Amino acid sequence: MAERTLNGIGVTPLSGVGSVVWYRPEAELPDPPEPADVDAESELSRFESAREQAAQELKAERDQTAERVGEEEAAVFDAHIQFLNDPQISDGVEEAIDGGIPAEHAVQETFSGFIEQFENMGGRMGERADDLRDVRDRLVRILSDGERVDLASLPEGSVVVAERLTPSDTAQLDPERVAGFVTTTGGRTSHAAIFARSLALPAVVGVGDELESVEDGDEVLIDGEAGRVVVHPHDDTKAEATEGADVEVHDGEVETKDGVEIEVAANIGTLDDIDLAVERGADGVGLFRTEFLFLDRESPPDEEEQYEAYLKALEAFDGGRVVVRTLDIGGDKPIPYLDLPEEENPFLGERGIRRSLGPDSDLFETQIRALLRAAGSADGANLSVMLPLVASLEELHEAREVIDDIAIDLDALGIEYELPEFGIMIETPAAVFMADEFAPHVDFFSIGTNDLAQYVMAAERGNERVSDLGDYRQPAVLRAIAKTVEAADGNDCWVGMCGEMAGDPDLTELLVGLGLDELSMSAVTVPHVKAAVTETDTADAEALATRVRSASTKSEVTEILTESQ
Ligand code: PEP
Ligand code: MG
Repeated sequence: MAERTLNGIGVTPLSGVGSVVWYRPEAELPDPPEPADVDAESELSRFESAREQAAQELKAERDQTAERVGEEEAAVFDAHIQFLNDPQISDGVEEAIDGGIPAEHAVQETFSGFIEQFENMGGRMGERADDLRDVRDRLVRILSDGERVDLASLPEGSVVVAERLTPSDTAQLDPERVAGFVTTTGGRTSHAAIFARSLALPAVVGVGDELESVEDGDEVLIDGEAGRVVVHPHDDTKAEATEGADVEVHDGEVETKDGVEIEVAANIGTLDDIDLAVERGADGVGLFRTEFLFLDRESPPDEEEQYEAYLKALEAFDGGRVVVRTLDIGGDKPIPYLDLPEEENPFLGERGIRRSLGPDSDLFETQIRALLRAAGSADGANLSVMLPLVASLEELHEAREVIDDIAIDLDALGIEYELPEFGIMIETPAAVFMADEFAPHVDFFSIGTNDLAQYVMAAERGNERVSDLGDYRQPAVLRAIAKTVEAADGNDCWVGMCGEMAGDPDLTELLVGLGLDELSMSAVTVPHVKAAVTETDTADAEALATRVRSASTKSEVTEILTESQ
């Protein structure tokens, strides 16, 4: 059979071969009867029982996920239970039933309205639409006695193909049995992508409608590295892809061919991510996204819980640096108990350091106390604190003052502490323009290319329609990176990168050439980037960086990079 290739977005640099199992959870409902023929009372009680059954299923899946994937990932089911119990949504369904609509149609109609609202909000709020979809499909399936493919017990070697996979779908996939998954929709930061990385599963998302041409039982190769799906792959195509994916894990520091050491660290969100990071040979943590400690719960973690979490990360890396980013929440990251304001442009609103120095100053102080205490512990010497979304010198100085005041308090109380290494993320154009002013006041910069590309190019991250514009290969983004490294030069300020770009092994040579000291990424890509570092020669890398910096379009950049490989 003829081999053909579909292109999408690879979310893990892994490949897998298997046979297609289509997963279509959305039930097709028949047309509803006339309102006069609907017995509202019995429909209301059917809806009530369906909710009870859904709650029981969710609880069981929650426990199963906690055991198989991790406690933090399982928390997504708590969010589903919250949606299931949300009075606004249930009232909407009940009102529709009272108006003469059968329960399953009422659920579909009401949930779809909320899904649309969340989608219109975009960003991480938009991703919550997937959770709502999950709850809707579950209720409709229960109400219509529908069946669906049981994702938890698929035949060995299955490749799950779906329009989209919700968090609970993905959490059920068993990496021992499933060869990977492919979806029509989705981006690098979708829930499904995040789970794929936690489970180390080959996955390609965002393939588009062409995926419909793939049929149950077709053999496919998922090439997560190149972001392609090969249907009916030839033997040599399979051999080539799996060979590349088999990168050896390299424990310990790596150097370029000419002996320049590059730190290769992992980004973590939850404590469960630590194990995979260690397993994949990360030197340490380049970005601990602490907001994950605050998500999917009823109240913030207290000082003690945070202290323990930071210590656990430090202990796991045994001498490796752990960069903890202070709380980075804002309008697009929902934390219900914080009562975040509704904003028209959450990405341009009160997020990151802006909230820590404003309405969340209490949380910030608690976090800093926990961090200073962790830095003062036996393993604490390698702890670094990093501020997100800094745009002005005042923010830097104000945050520094909070840290110094807390140190004075701890001192007065006789509590053991240490002042950790202190740095900022470079992820706003303002931070790039002012980097030479920031550099003397910090120990390090870490470039957050996800936000930096979004703000430099005015192209929302996660919005597929502007993804080409928001690409980190855009010359404007590359020049912003180069300018940041230059500003740090001569200031005793090391420069790292913790956005997605750092985990792209095709760009490692360029990043070394641009002068980055540290690269931090999803744990699964650590071995690939380490391998790329060892194959790099600094003089060649610098020559490549000079050529790339003179490119004036993204296609010129891509051409230069392709030629260099
Ligand atoms: C970034 O913006 O590149 C980054 C690493 O931070 P986050 O993705 O958490 O916003
Ligand atoms: Mg960011």
